[in-house]
Amino acid sequence: MTVKDYAKDVNLSVAEVLKKCQELNIAVHTKDDYLTDDDIIMLDNLINLISTDDETTFEEEDVIDDKVDEILTSSTFDKEIKESVTKEKLKKKDNKNEKNEFNMLKKEMYKHKNKLMSNTTDDIVLYKNNMTVGELANSLNVSGTDVIKKLIGMGLMVSINEPLEFENAEIIALDYGKTLKREETQDVANFEEYEIIDNENDLVKRPPIVTIMGHVDHGKTTLLDYIRKTHVVDKEFGGITQHIGAYQTMYNDELITFIDTPGHAAFTEMRARGASVTDIVIIIVAADDGVMPQTKEAIDHAKAANVPIIVAVNKIDKKDANIDRVLTEMNEAGITPEIWGGDIPFINISAHTGEGIDLLLETILTVAEMQNLRANPNRYAVGAVIESRVDKNIGGVASFLIQNGTLRIGDPIVVGTSYAKVRTMKNDSGKSIVEAGPSTPVEITGLTKNPSAGDKFMAFETEAEAKSIAEKRETLAKINAGKQKGKSLDDLFASINAGDKEINVLLKADVRGSEEAVKSSLEKITAGGIKINVIRSGIGAISESDVILASASDAIIIGFNVVASSSAKDLAKDKNIEIRLYTIIYKLVEDMEDAINGLLDPVYEEKVIGAAEIRKIFKFSKIGNIAGSYITDGLVKNSALARVIRDGIIIASDDKISSLQREKDSVKEVKKGYECGITLEKFNDFKEGDIIEVYEMIEVPHEKS
Ligand code: GDP
Repeated sequence: MTVKDYAKDVNLSVAEVLKKCQELNIAVHTKDDYLTDDDIIMLDNLINLISTDDETTFEEEDVIDDKVDEILTSSTFDKEIKESVTKEKLKKKDNKNEKNEFNMLKKEMYKHKNKLMSNTTDDIVLYKNNMTVGELANSLNVSGTDVIKKLIGMGLMVSINEPLEFENAEIIALDYGKTLKREETQDVANFEEYEIIDNENDLVKRPPIVTIMGHVDHGKTTLLDYIRKTHVVDKEFGGITQHIGAYQTMYNDELITFIDTPGHAAFTEMRARGASVTDIVIIIVAADDGVMPQTKEAIDHAKAANVPIIVAVNKIDKKDANIDRVLTEMNEAGITPEIWGGDIPFINISAHTGEGIDLLLETILTVAEMQNLRANPNRYAVGAVIESRVDKNIGGVASFLIQNGTLRIGDPIVVGTSYAKVRTMKNDSGKSIVEAGPSTPVEITGLTKNPSAGDKFMAFETEAEAKSIAEKRETLAKINAGKQKGKSLDDLFASINAGDKEINVLLKADVRGSEEAVKSSLEKITAGGIKINVIRSGIGAISESDVILASASDAIIIGFNVVASSSAKDLAKDKNIEIRLYTIIYKLVEDMEDAINGLLDPVYEEKVIGAAEIRKIFKFSKIGNIAGSYITDGLVKNSALARVIRDGIIIASDDKISSLQREKDSVKEVKKGYECGITLEKFNDFKEGDIIEVYEMIEVPHEKS
C-alpha cells in the first residue's frame, strides 16, 4: 500500500502520514512509496492512540509529538507534566519497547494539551497564496538551496521564484519541524482578485463612474458630447477636451466621471477582463424609436453586472416622440419605471436642446449618494486601463481610470505582467498633472508594453516591489496559460463546485415560439439540484455581443435553428467560449442533462469479474494465511474487491485483495484455469473449498431527470 492510499484510508494528509513515518523511522519519502505490513501496524498503533481523544486536533497532535521528544530529552520541562509522565512511565516500566514508551508518553500528553498549545506560535509558519520557494525558505529561516534540494528529493524540479502548492510547502515545513498554516490574507500579485480593505478614517466620497448604453443612433455620443461641452471642469481649457476614454464633469459642485466609449461592447469587455469600473449605467432610448434589440442587450449587460440603471428617454424634442411607448416597452423588457412603482428612474431629455440633462445629472448624483461611493486617496493607486495606444513619438500611451488611491508621477506601477514608472500624466483637458485621485481618468506615458482595455493596474511604493510583483505575475500567467477561463459545456459543468449550483446559458433561437419552448425546457432541467439560468434569450444569429456577454458571465451559448456570425465565431474561439448549435429540442435537453450528470457524484454498480476456489491454505506467521487458489471463472485482479463464500453463504464481505501471487512473483492479474496465492486485506480465516468472489465497482450513468 502506498503512503497516499494509506493516508486516504486513515483520513490524514500525506504530509501527516509522512511525518508519522519519520517519527517511527519508516523509510518512506514520497506519497508513492510503499509501506510494509509492519509499517502499517506501527502507523495504526500511533493513529489509534490519537483517536482515543476525538477532541484533539492534528495541530495539537503535532505539538504534543514535539513536546514528548522534549520531555524525553529535557530536564526542565513543566513540573506537573513531567511528574505525571514519570508516574506513567513507572507504572509500565516493564515495557521495554521504545515505540510503546513513546506512544504512552504521547497519550499522557493529551491530558495536558491545553497547556502545551499555549506556547507554540514559534513553530507555526504562514503560507501565503502562491508562496514561492524563496519566500518559504525565508519564513523557515533556512537557505533556499536547501529547500530546493528537498523539493528535488520529492521529485519536484523548481526554481527559487516558483510558487509552491500548499501541500508541498507543508511537507518541507514539517521537515524543518514547523507547522504550515494558510495565511488568511490575500496575495497582492493577484491584484484582480485582491480585495482592498481601507481604514474607515481614510475613506472619502468619490465621484460616480457612469457608462451610457443603448441602441445605435439613439443619441449616446450626442449626449456625452453635450454634457462634456456644457459642464466642463477645467474652465481654463474651456471646451477643448482630449479624448482619453473617459472625462469628468462638474454639476452642483460635484464631479461625475463618464466613460467616453459608449455602448455595451466596451463595458462588457472590461467586465470580462475583471475591471468592473462602472457604478451607474444610463440606458438611452430614443423616444421616436422605442426599445430596440440593442436596448434589450444593454439591459441584459447592465443587469448581469448588477449595476444601478437610469433610463434616459432621448429625442423628446422630436415631433414623433412617444414617451409612453418607451415606458411600456421598457416595462415589458423588465425595467419598471419609478413612476409605475418600480425602482428605475426615467428622465426625459433632448441631447440636442439640452432639455432635462440637468435633471439627469442630478439623478446620477442621487443614485450615487445612495451607493455611498467612497475611496481612500491615501493609498497607492489601483484601477483599470480604459484605452491604450502606441504614439510614434512617445511610445506607449494609456488611459487609466483610478478606482482607489492616488497616482503620482514617478509611481512604480504594474500592468499585466510588466512594470513601469509613470513618466507623464495628463487629465481629460490635456493638462499635465502630478497626481490624480479616485475616479479620475488620466492619460499616462512610460509603459514598456501596451496593455489592453480592461487590464487592471496597481501602483507600489518601490520599483523593486513592482518588479518582483510583475515577475511573479509573469510566472503565474505561464502557469495559468493552460487553464483559460473560457467555457465549453464540459468544463463549465466541471468547474461548478458544490456551492454554486447554477449554470449560465445564453440562448438564441430562430423564432419567438422556439425561443420560449427551448428556454422553458432548459429551465425545467434540475438534475442533481443544478439549475440552468438563461441569462439572455433572443431571436436571430449569435452575435459578437452575445459572445462578450457570455464571456463576462461565465456562460455558454446555445443556438437553436440559428448560426453564429463569422465575427462571433472568431471571437468565441478567441475567448474560448463554446457555441452549441441544435435543431432538435430533445437533443439539446439530453446533452445538457448528460453534462450535468457528468458533474454529479458518480453512481457505482458492482460487477463480478471472477471467482477462485481455495484448494490449499499456506500459513505464515508474519502475513497470516495465504489462500492457494484455482481460478474457476473470469479473472482475479490484484486491485479488485472480494468476498468469501462458504457453502453458498457469504462469510466475509467488503474485503479487498491485498496480494496476488503466481509462484513467488506478485502479479497484477490471474486468468481462469490458473493457480495463484491470494491474501485479503481483512479476512484471513480461509478454509479449503471456500470461494473467493472477485468484483469491481463500475461507474454507471445517472438516471435522467
Ligand atoms: P449613438 O449611435 O447612440 O451614439 O447616436 P448619436 O449620438 O450618434 O445620434 C444619432 C443621431 O441622432 C444623430 O444624428 C444625432 O444628431 C441625433 N440625435 C441625438 N440626440 C438627439 C436629440 O435629442 N434630438 C434629436 N432631434 N436628434 C438627436
